[in-house]
Amino acid sequence: GGSVRFDNVLFHYDEERPILKGVSFEVPAGKTVAIVGPSGAGKSTISRLLFRFYDVSGGAITVDGQDIRDVQQLSLRQNIGMVPQDTVLFNDTLLYNIGYGRPSASREEIEDAARMAQISEFVKSLPNGFDTEVGERGLKLSGGEKQRVAIARTILKAPPILVLDEATSALDSHTEQEIQTALDQVSQNRTTLVIAHRLSTVIGADEIIVLEAGKIKERGRHADLLAQG
Ligand code: ADP
Ligand code: ADP
Repeated sequence: GGSVRFDNVLFHYDEERPILKGVSFEVPAGKTVAIVGPSGAGKSTISRLLFRFYDVSGGAITVDGQDIRDVQQLSLRQNIGMVPQDTVLFNDTLLYNIGYGRPSASREEIEDAARMAQISEFVKSLPNGFDTEVGERGLKLSGGEKQRVAIARTILKAPPILVLDEATSALDSHTEQEIQTALDQVSQNRTTLVIAHRLSTVIGADEIIVLEAGKIKERGRHADLLAQG
């Protein structure tokens, strides 16, 4: 399960200014759709609406064919995993951070998740009570490393639907590559919505939607969009 559909979605935070002006797309179960576009286009608004932090002003959002207004909010959110741009960590080991809220997860499952998220060597070198901000070698966890902790948490939660928010990141290309590998692992066989700034980070998506000023400007696969220029 896990298909997501936006049908002619209209949205405004306030009456004067429409933000989404009739957005329609579908993420079939197990597929990946990326939404790219300039800052202010409405990309994050789409993920907020999917989590039902706000209700649509027009049109409808359905998950597995059910209008999300008819679904209990808790069960909706339990079905959706979010890898945010910024992750706040507890002042404890990364293993603790990954397993937090998952009392049934075994040590082995947590370590597997860390491995898939490309942070396992890192996790093993951490002593108990480790300060995750400043490491034993005086290293500070980078944004990319924190993001991989969030990815590991999501792997453990194993939600049918994933929202990956990559919209920030002024990451160096090595870090970006590592995160990309981790994200590819989590999104396998999972319904995935990727929010991104740049086309270069969403090459493998089944469909890419270019959003501008609340409207879909173009859509297609990576190669199609490049061909159009
Ligand atoms: P993107 O993710 O593409 O950068 P957003 O969805 O965050 O765009 O924002 C789209 C537009 O909605 C922007 O013009 C932004 O200023 C506006 N906006 C975002 N959040 C709010 C809010 N809570 N209240 C009013 N306007 C908002
Ligand atoms: P869980 O314990 O199942 O991870 P949480 O109580 O942390 O769930 O959150 C419920 C769901 O809502 C999760 O899927 C989480 O990813 C999502 N969620 C919580 N807060 C936010 C947020 N600020 N933005 C996006 N998604 C969120």
